[in-house]
Amino acid sequence: MKRSFPIIVIIASLFFSGCAKNEVNINYRNNPEPLLRNAYIKLPLGTVKPSGWLKSQLEDQSTGLTGNIDDFWPDLVNSSWRGGNGEAWERGPYFLDGLVPLAYLLNDDHLISKVKSWIDPILASSSDTGWYGPAKNKDRCPLAVSNKVLMQYYEATGDKRAIDILTKYFRYLHDSQPDWPDKEWRGVRAMENAVTGYWLYRQTGEAWILETISSIEKNSSDWTAYYETFPWDSAASADKKIPLNWGPDGLTAHVVNNAMAIKYPGLWYQQSKDERFKNAVFTGIQKYSVNHGQPGGRFSGDEHLSGKSPSQGTELCSVVEYMFSLEELYEIFGDNALADRLELLAYNSLPGTTTPDMWAHQYDQQANQVLVSGAKRDWSTNGDYSNIYGLMPNFACCLANMHQGWPKFVASMWMATNDNGLALVTYGPSVVKAKVGDGQEVTITEETNYPFTGSVNLTINSDKTVRFPVDLRIPGWADSVTIKFKNKIVKLKNTLTYKLKERWKNGDQIQIEFPMQLRIEKSYNNSISLLRGPVYYSLRIDKEYKNIKINYDNFSYKGSVDWEITPKSPWNYGLLIDKSNIMRGIKVKENPVSRYPFSDKGDMIWSADSGRYYTWSQDAPVVITARGMKIPEWTMKDNSADVPPLSPVKPEGDPIVINLVPYGCARLRITEFPVMDIVLMEDIMRSAK
Ligand SMILES: [Zn+2]
Repeated sequence: MKRSFPIIVIIASLFFSGCAKNEVNINYRNNPEPLLRNAYIKLPLGTVKPSGWLKSQLEDQSTGLTGNIDDFWPDLVNSSWRGGNGEAWERGPYFLDGLVPLAYLLNDDHLISKVKSWIDPILASSSDTGWYGPAKNKDRCPLAVSNKVLMQYYEATGDKRAIDILTKYFRYLHDSQPDWPDKEWRGVRAMENAVTGYWLYRQTGEAWILETISSIEKNSSDWTAYYETFPWDSAASADKKIPLNWGPDGLTAHVVNNAMAIKYPGLWYQQSKDERFKNAVFTGIQKYSVNHGQPGGRFSGDEHLSGKSPSQGTELCSVVEYMFSLEELYEIFGDNALADRLELLAYNSLPGTTTPDMWAHQYDQQANQVLVSGAKRDWSTNGDYSNIYGLMPNFACCLANMHQGWPKFVASMWMATNDNGLALVTYGPSVVKAKVGDGQEVTITEETNYPFTGSVNLTINSDKTVRFPVDLRIPGWADSVTIKFKNKIVKLKNTLTYKLKERWKNGDQIQIEFPMQLRIEKSYNNSISLLRGPVYYSLRIDKEYKNIKINYDNFSYKGSVDWEITPKSPWNYGLLIDKSNIMRGIKVKENPVSRYPFSDKGDMIWSADSGRYYTWSQDAPVVITARGMKIPEWTMKDNSADVPPLSPVKPEGDPIVINLVPYGCARLRITEFPVMDIVLMEDIMRSAK
């Protein structure tokens, strides 16, 4: 017999996290006075774990570069941070900033033993002055990174030595001269220390820590004023005024510095309580989008800010740093647009710039990437090898820094709410085991193949029935969402966050259905990009992988390969799309997501090719079949696809069937397509029926 459930329709509600002002989470500590209370509370590392395809993704990372490079890359093998006599600056801390969360999210004994081999010498390095790390390093810059490593290590292990060394170091900063010059990395990135500083204050309540952060903020680069004026806009880009140097002005146009700095006014907002700093964050993000925005949530920089052309590159370091900035900013502001962008980066830009087995990465990725090679390019400051998928293309920073992307993303998928509940921040297969209500531990298992499908199923497990809220972030693109729980059906229209405050018993479920209709986004020269959920879809191009060997100072390495990829099918297509009926003539096929029993490696989900040099895949998790037409005027320029010609464009020949796959699966790709004149397109579509 069919049961009828009550259906509740909610339109344009603002179920923001806004619980009553005085509600305080008794299980996880938000900012104590005098800091502003944040919208949410990040959960300690290890509280959220990956499952499903995301677990497989982290396992791929562990069998790929992250789990192996410190065995063969001399900068890490002999690192002074682990007691050797080699590299003593940033390489070790950057690597650990990803290795530590990866090891504890996977609970992997081998990785954890690696972590210990690094952390023990660091913990032993603390001196009477409070300074720590390799004796030969005198620069504060890498310590801002190692501080974050120790913070995560403490959360995962409870090892009090980490708190001690951090407290001593912040005391050292408090008692010594500021020394944050804006012509040096340590000054430009000084407020990175505030991430750990506020965390340490939440742990210890020591008021002088806030004095330390205040001194750093006042004596380092003024990023707030930068976002307010934003000198490096499209006009500066067009006039070639963006400074391509490594001095104080060039460092403000440096893409990684920008991706890190966007959180600095937000961090300081916690202490200053001045809306000016909050506004600077949101203004800055908007300025990035308008002047340098590219598909996949990012802004360009190869390696200085490079404008909106889909052939300009974006450095991998800036992708993972922007992700981390957004994770921090979401905790502070709880603004869903931040998490929307975080999903775009995680589900497009991050996978698109590594190989699926995570043994090779690019320095610079392109939205329209039709040749991966060492041919001469029109990058702002990078070398010609920057878009090779390899071990260490162009420069080694990304090789050291890329590891934080996936694990920190997983760790921040759920956060605690101020009213003793849990917030689902970004969607994907995961498990959270956390305290809710008056301290009851619950587990929520999120089963989904999101972002490839729109169905999400949450199962709550708890020894006792417990009342607590679950905040569901509703993505900005999801204009209608159906939620089923406890025999109720709720239909949401244009909602931000939906709070379910219920008495939950063991086995209760929440089912969420997101609309996965295709959407279009206007891009460069009136071209368009196609999205479904948080995923961009790119033209699948036949390709040939060539194993090239780049000389890295003659050190040997296992497993890793440098790939040149050349196209073996045309790429210069315009897309036939009916903007008033996007699905017209288009088919979407969802493929199984978990599918590789054949190797010790995981699913390698972000792949779309079979055969060739890698037997990576059967097919991409989603394949879209559409029609395109050749645009003869669209050719190569400087060994990249030229910018898309101004749409509407004139096509040639007959429409042909083309396949689109997720951006992250396409190592050659067109993501910004020219389109035809509406009348012409109508004619073509009618006759092609
Ligand atoms: Zn880099």
